[in-house]
Amino acid sequence: MAAIEKRTRSEWQDLDQQHYLHPFTDHKDLAKQKSRIITRADGVYIYDADGKKILDGMAGLWCVNLGYGRDELVDAAERQMRELPYYNSFFQCAHPPSIELSKVITDLAPDNFNHVFYTGSGSESNDTIVRMVRRYWDLLDQPERQIIISRQNAYHGSTMAGASLSGMKAMHAQGGLPIPGIVHIEQPYYFGSDHSLSEEEFGLQTARKLEQKIQELGADKVAAFIGEPIQGAGGVIVPPASYWPEIQRICDEYGILLVTDEVITGFGRVGEWFGADYFGVKPDLMPFAKGVTSGYLPLGGVLVGDRVADVIIDKGGEFFHGYTYSGHPACCAVAIESLRLTKSEGIVERVRDDIGPYLQERWGKLVDHPLVGEARMVGLMGAFEIVANKKSRERFAEDKGVGTTCRNFSVSNGLVMRAVGDTMIVAPPLVLSHAEADELVEKAWKALDLTQKAIK
Ligand SMILES: *Cc1c(COP(=O)(O)O)cnc(C)c1O
Repeated sequence: MAAIEKRTRSEWQDLDQQHYLHPFTDHKDLAKQKSRIITRADGVYIYDADGKKILDGMAGLWCVNLGYGRDELVDAAERQMRELPYYNSFFQCAHPPSIELSKVITDLAPDNFNHVFYTGSGSESNDTIVRMVRRYWDLLDQPERQIIISRQNAYHGSTMAGASLSGMKAMHAQGGLPIPGIVHIEQPYYFGSDHSLSEEEFGLQTARKLEQKIQELGADKVAAFIGEPIQGAGGVIVPPASYWPEIQRICDEYGILLVTDEVITGFGRVGEWFGADYFGVKPDLMPFAKGVTSGYLPLGGVLVGDRVADVIIDKGGEFFHGYTYSGHPACCAVAIESLRLTKSEGIVERVRDDIGPYLQERWGKLVDHPLVGEARMVGLMGAFEIVANKKSRERFAEDKGVGTTCRNFSVSNGLVMRAVGDTMIVAPPLVLSHAEADELVEKAWKALDLTQKAIK
């Protein structure tokens, strides 16, 4: 069997530099540092080309929910690839894996969800969202309802529509974004606010930015609101408890579609099947990806609630949208197995009742470190805020790169944490053991100690 070449670490690094353009990367910077070459992984650990063992505190990119080295997922892919490696679902065709997965996913979702549209990624799912909500209002003879309201610092992907829905200024500055008809309101980031309001009041006030924006634009122009239940890439921003119920009230009152982007929060990350369940909201559409296959193969989709599905189906006419790999059989087979394991191993309950509370308690103690202004975690997604002054929550100067320094210490000490500015984030595999949770927190503390020394 032909395998990938055996090369030394530095050969890989040289070839990487010569030929490979990485996502979200400054290549001049990379040329100085050189890539860390990851060669294998097992459980919650990754190993680099030097054999160094690193606890993967980010579950890859928020996706390897069941951990690495799961033969059941590999076998599911292999079985399906031998039987039917590819066929499409265009032209009145379908195949068992995509049909079966649709049944499995809609059974897990809230009752009003009975249909799935497949994509290859979270970004494509959000492109589908833009087209589908506009199609919905067209079919209801309200074509002027075009605008989708999103939030600053949101992350909804990197395609033209995904990046437009995202609320990241640096992304918008490249490529002339956002595309027309997408606007952004304030994010519910209490730690970053001036604390003149209580957390509850702040949650309500921030949610009401949606109402103000709807009134400003005209309710008859607004198609949908989209939000991650907990903003992930933006820094694990957990909204106050008052926020989502108020968003729900506003969407209901003005009749606009509610979209919860479940790409990270879906399939157990927050100790419920979906982030919407955690916050008790009733969305009309739920894009998903990442954890659905535990990252073993790429798959995304949109859970389409009855309100939208009924219109799309009953009003008829072709929805001119879809991807070559929509419902890819091998990806669907892996998703079916991944969700089966999630259920049979009680992973969602484990995150809610066992490893979630266990890690949350220990993670929360990071706030005792002199550099930490807040430490928060829901399910197994958490953050802490590095500050120059704990009382005033004053930050270090941006050009000091304190978050990056902390990240680098963390990784070289054997823990993948990610830095979003000076907010450090983790989202480990959901199979994390208690001992591994202890290790994660110890290593985070150590990274903070080293950072403190280095910036003196
Ligand atoms: C990662 C992410 C996306 C984009 O998913 P890709 O598979 O990278 O295209 C969309 N929404 C959220 C909330 C994400 O975290």
